[in-house]
Amino acid sequence: MPPAPLPLPAIHASHVGIWIADPHGRVQRVGRGEAIAAVAATPHLLLNATLTGDRLGYPELSGLDLLELFAFLYPARFAVPTPAGIAAAIGLATPKTEGDIAAFLPQATAALLAGIDDPSWPEREGAWHAMQALARQRWPWAPLVQPRLTTPDANERWLFARLPEWEEVPPRAAPRQVRINADDVTARLDRLTGDGAERRPGQQDYARATAAIFEPRERKDAPQMLVAEAGTGIGKTLGYLAPAKQWIDQSAGSVCISTFTKALQRQLSRETERLYPDAATHREKVVVRKGRENYLCLLNLEDALQGGFSGRAAILAQLVARWAAYTRDGDMVGGDLPGWLPALFRRNGTTALTDRRGECIYVGCPHFRKCFIEHSARAATQADIVIANHALTMVQAARPRDSGAPATRLIFDEGHHLWDAADSMFAAALTGQEAVEIRRWVLGPEGKSRGRRRGLAARLADVASYDEAGERAIQAAITAAAEMPGDGWLGRLSENEPWGAIERLLAAVRGQVYARAVDTRTADAGYGLETELADPDAALVAAAAAASDAVEALLRPLLALGKRLEVLIEDPPDWLDGQARARVDGARHSLGTRIDTLGGWLSLLGRVGGPADPDFVDWLAVDRYDGREFDCGLHRHWLDPARPIAEIVYRPAQGVLVTSATLRSGHGAQGWAEADIRTGARHMDGGVRHFAVPSPFDYARQSEVIIVTDIARGDLPALAGAYSRLIEASGGGALGLFSAIRRLRIVHARIADRLARAGLPLYAQHVDPLDTGTLVDIFRADPHASLLGTDALRDGVDVPGESLRQVIMEGVPWPRPTILHAARRAAQGGSAYDDMVIRGRIGQAFGRLIRRADDFGQFVILSPSFPSRLLSAFPEGTPIRRLPLDEAVNHVAAANVERRKSAFPAFSPS
Ligand code: SF4
Repeated sequence: MPPAPLPLPAIHASHVGIWIADPHGRVQRVGRGEAIAAVAATPHLLLNATLTGDRLGYPELSGLDLLELFAFLYPARFAVPTPAGIAAAIGLATPKTEGDIAAFLPQATAALLAGIDDPSWPEREGAWHAMQALARQRWPWAPLVQPRLTTPDANERWLFARLPEWEEVPPRAAPRQVRINADDVTARLDRLTGDGAERRPGQQDYARATAAIFEPRERKDAPQMLVAEAGTGIGKTLGYLAPAKQWIDQSAGSVCISTFTKALQRQLSRETERLYPDAATHREKVVVRKGRENYLCLLNLEDALQGGFSGRAAILAQLVARWAAYTRDGDMVGGDLPGWLPALFRRNGTTALTDRRGECIYVGCPHFRKCFIEHSARAATQADIVIANHALTMVQAARPRDSGAPATRLIFDEGHHLWDAADSMFAAALTGQEAVEIRRWVLGPEGKSRGRRRGLAARLADVASYDEAGERAIQAAITAAAEMPGDGWLGRLSENEPWGAIERLLAAVRGQVYARAVDTRTADAGYGLETELADPDAALVAAAAAASDAVEALLRPLLALGKRLEVLIEDPPDWLDGQARARVDGARHSLGTRIDTLGGWLSLLGRVGGPADPDFVDWLAVDRYDGREFDCGLHRHWLDPARPIAEIVYRPAQGVLVTSATLRSGHGAQGWAEADIRTGARHMDGGVRHFAVPSPFDYARQSEVIIVTDIARGDLPALAGAYSRLIEASGGGALGLFSAIRRLRIVHARIADRLARAGLPLYAQHVDPLDTGTLVDIFRADPHASLLGTDALRDGVDVPGESLRQVIMEGVPWPRPTILHAARRAAQGGSAYDDMVIRGRIGQAFGRLIRRADDFGQFVILSPSFPSRLLSAFPEGTPIRRLPLDEAVNHVAAANVERRKSAFPAFSPS
């Protein structure tokens, strides 16, 4: 018997309307003005204050947010942040209509609060202490929750005492050289897919092919390398996990699996549970790793809890502390911290809780032995399987740390993203924001900044007091860093009053960009401006020379300090005990990153007025958003970013698999040539094997491509109308993809209310105040919902089944005509390069549609003159029709009727 609803008023607002329930449960539909007056006078129960405030047009909205209560009661538990999602999470019936939601909220609140009285509530420990602090912060829920919590009997452990400590472990030995047997791989795959499961020949072939990367290497710098495309539905993950586990068992080695998206990292972690069914063993043998900026820094959290944060941010810090006690690994971004939680606290400061700027003080930190980042780094050295992302895998290959033998076998899943990942990883940028970061890293907080963030001198206090040469280097670095741009640099630039050599350089860059840049994207005016770094004017050349001196003045002492730290590690003095050594080692690593950055800046500055390096593309840019400048500076990218992948990442490995469902952007041998360009395999001097296995899906029956021929490019009302009619025709379940945020927003604003009134909620990236992961969760949970988004959704969405049955692309995703793109286009075959990029993008977008053998989906692209040469982006056999919008809508509607008639959507093409 559910508890009686709480006698409190509640509000629900959506694109359809606004409803208020009074304390007696009477629900009334109200207008916006009346609703705002009511919530301003009395705190109401609501679900997601940020989103509700958005719908009301009242961003200051506050109240009793059920999501905050859920986060307090059930930290680290998953819930979709909607009424239906919360109902499912706590076992209540889902409200049937929007009008029922306001009445549902008091009922859900009563059920949530009743959970506190349940003696088996698993997250009770720590709740009483957290509540005392939240009551002091005047958390609106405190008066309702506090009386229900009993004072704990024993001395309840405070968060920092509760977290486990890591232990020092010996480095892992190098793996034995073994050969794995194809029959063993097949048998292993059979066991993984489950006894009695139907054998999938494509998956078996794929598993045997990928086993090749585990053979012993024959030549130095020539890993066993395979580039393998496995069509969607092959069961690629288990296909490579089977030989990997066989090799791990025989060789005692470890394997690194690298992905691009966090979604695949999560999915891989789940799939590896089949290799290690026991939960404790799985935790030990499989470690998910991300960059350190993803993890909670306990020192920053302690600082926030002890007065560093105030107001709403202090409440967030308490809820994060509750989560920290129950999290699996402390991952705040895409881990088990609900993605929607930070968004409930606008201007929230969660980034201040991570170690985003590399200001860790290592063993100087009282929480070093409990630190999530250190836990994860150490666990990874002992794990059989490390699931990392491409960026981190590249960083570790470029700057390995002394923590035992690195993984010798690398598997790059989502290999079609290696190019983009390397493009950012191996790029250099000397911009105002980057320079401010370096200044902060050396000097620590300045002015009124609070908190424990520390500069280099504080992080290396023991080196400074015991080692004279080290102390001199630190002081010289501090003097040089003070010449870097500090806060307010953008304002000084716009007032033409730059201070110091780097700001004068930035002023010259800005001047040249405004003088020469052509805003080719008139439709998106107000965004970035750029110009080639060619024939610079005299002012820029002179400013670059002075800036080089300033950069060198900082680089020299950092290099000297790096050498001192190396000497200390190699020949440790008496004072360098184990703890101090770990700190010096950590500092040495983060110093290496800054030294690399400054080295990159010097070569970029040397290029101003000097000869161009044909391996690189250099340009000047002013970054703007909605017409407001936020950064400016010089940029350098590799013309072919796959080259450093081959040099730095592939060559040192013993075996490398690069795999994906869409490596070739076309069919046949030409496809492999393109795949080798995008993955860097062409730089491996031959010896790279290729393998492809087609998708088992029947695309001719399960899918259809519709090219809508009568929506003119740039006609925004027509574009919005087309989206609206297509979404209505499919009854929701549509993923709309845009190349420009501005167009996405305009289309959303025009159609969201109308669709919502038809019972078809529409969510959108860059509009709804929710993170992308949460938007996808909401979309997945409601088959009537649709989602609009940009590039991140083209790959990051894995929604099998009913919820995704139509992908709508606003047009051909032409590459933006940037300087970098133009250089690569010129170097790699002109329009053929464009076609390769576009086919890749379309192929990835199409890949969202059919995820299971019983899926059916339609791919609609709004393009009056879609080039026939791009049709090879779709799987062979996929029906393709060019239709005017009216007919396209009828087609989509007919498929929807068929879908409803039959559990299996047997669509028969007309
Ligand atoms: S060791 Fe570094 S990252 Fe970890 S909690 Fe301490 S300061 Fe934060």
